[in-house]
Amino acid sequence: MQKVSTSVVRYIAILLMGTLILSASLFLPQNAQAFSGSYSQPVGIHVIDSLQPGHDYGKPPTSPAIMVTVNGEPFTLNTYALAGSNLPRKPLPVEKEKSSATAPTPIKDKSVQKESGSKASKETVTLAKGTKYATDLHIIKSGKPGPVVMIVGGVHGSEKAGYNAARKLVDYKISRGTLLVLPEANKRAISINRRLVQGEGDLNRSFPKTAKESPKNTLARAIYQVVKDYKVDWLMDMHEGYDYYKNQSTSSVGQTLIYYPANSARSAVDTIVKGLNKNISSSYKKFSLLRYPVKGSLARSVGQFLGVRSFIFETSMKPSLSTRVDYQLKAARYLLNELNML
Ligand SMILES: [Zn+2]
Repeated sequence: MQKVSTSVVRYIAILLMGTLILSASLFLPQNAQAFSGSYSQPVGIHVIDSLQPGHDYGKPPTSPAIMVTVNGEPFTLNTYALAGSNLPRKPLPVEKEKSSATAPTPIKDKSVQKESGSKASKETVTLAKGTKYATDLHIIKSGKPGPVVMIVGGVHGSEKAGYNAARKLVDYKISRGTLLVLPEANKRAISINRRLVQGEGDLNRSFPKTAKESPKNTLARAIYQVVKDYKVDWLMDMHEGYDYYKNQSTSSVGQTLIYYPANSARSAVDTIVKGLNKNISSSYKKFSLLRYPVKGSLARSVGQFLGVRSFIFETSMKPSLSTRVDYQLKAARYLLNELNML
């Protein structure tokens, strides 16, 4: 009797295990598909090419970071996928370029001769006029031939140093070329002091990610068109991060300059970072030079698809607003100075 009941139990156990394995094999391929292969049709999961959630730093195209968004929330597939972004991170690769192989040609001699000697002028035009996104673009012309530089603030409405610095640039006088200032790119986000307007997506992910793509919305389209129409040579996009990039217990990109490495942009951005760091004594507060703004960002798209020398400049939100605005303005001045425009 004892023997029989043991074998019956064993028989039932084997049956149960068989059923479990069978049902697991029915579910597995579906679930596995979301995390493998081409990511072509995952439900609620979307792969993006960015190293950290909410940041404007992207990896070089040769080694894309594995990031996904799950129902709109971005995660990497490693530690961040499991526990959000509060875990200590691995240090991000700090910019180090091979020295002589890619020696840039001097920026100063590369200015584009665009304007024939006309008078100095200042003009304001409204982008996305007649829509709720309407925002002013200030056009400062020196009247002398030279580069066209565009400086943008307020793409993210909670990053105050960017738009406060850009507002001050509106009164700048330049000695050659043209300066375009768009101080409040996303006016509505600024008015609510948020990174973005809920339901409208991140403006700094709304620009073309491929050569064939168009900007995603009215505002991005208007800004992208300005870059094309004025044949912008240099673009600086002013942003902020919540901490210091060199503080490795955070994932912030505060105190970085993230540039698109093409068209000999390196020399000028190097000068900006070195110039700023000269007066910063604490090493963790120093600026780092990074390459590749995240895909879909203004700086990335104009750099990659319009041939503009471009970068995102990120101050840390830790110091006072006046210090941060000062960093932003200094960076802008270093650029303009490098281009002999001041
Ligand atoms: Zn930003």
